Amino acid sequence: MSILKVSRLGHPVLRMQSQGVTKEALSSPAIQTLIDNMIGLAAPQVHYSLTIAVIESHGPRGDIPLTVLVNPDVTVLDEELLEDWEGCLSIPDLRGRVPRWRKLRVDGLDRHGNRLEFTAEGFAARVVQHEFDHLMGKVYLDRMRDYKTLTHVSEFQRYWLPEQTPSPSSQQADRQE
Ligand SMILES: [Zn+2]
Repeated sequence: MSILKVSRLGHPVLRMQSQGVTKEALSSPAIQTLIDNMIGLAAPQVHYSLTIAVIESHGPRGDIPLTVLVNPDVTVLDEELLEDWEGCLSIPDLRGRVPRWRKLRVDGLDRHGNRLEFTAEGFAARVVQHEFDHLMGKVYLDRMRDYKTLTHVSEFQRYWLPEQTPSPSSQQADRQE
């Protein structure tokens, strides 16, 4: 596995609408290798303007198995908005509270071009929305209602985390970004 260079806020690729992937392109060794190296990232975060995201998370907020999303579309199933903390590898050293829909359906393709359909709720729905936004050229800052919660990570741990999550095991930020 190689380490891909992560694009940071300000790079135009993060603000572009990503291009859909044909089944033929998806089966190419180049795209398959890209997917292998993209855990927890959307393709624009590694400088590819393609509608591919790979999600996986194991942490106090929930477990999401490794899932490759190709050409995903989301349908909101519950418009209730839940606010929680997010961070992003493309926006290093910051956290902020972001409202996200509680439940949605995801339709797309898996890495082999087979149809993929599942329902995501709570934290999994949050992660899907974060990555889906990347494919649309959006970042979590665009979704925040109030920048007063925008905080650097060390200040997050010092001033915000104890109120939110009393359990010591919760003090690790989730891998998924
Ligand atoms: Zn991100």
